Amino acid sequence: MKIIKCRDLGFNCDFIAIGSAAEADSVIQKMLVHIKEAHEGLSDEDLADIKARMSVLLSRGCGCGAL
Ligand SMILES: [Zn+2]
Repeated sequence: MKIIKCRDLGFNCDFIAIGSAAEADSVIQKMLVHIKEAHEGLSDEDLADIKARMSVLLSRGCGCGAL
């Protein structure tokens, strides 16, 4: 399972994007769609930074041992 919490990206928000390990890209896409809709006012630079952080989070996995 791949999980990204909006909170882990620095937002005060309970949104979570979930997908299988093979769907890591779609998890990132889901989170980007959410961020653009729910958290306005972000620059392209901010979004690039968020994408980079999501890649790091996903490559680490969720730490639950179920990968
Ligand atoms: Zn959010």
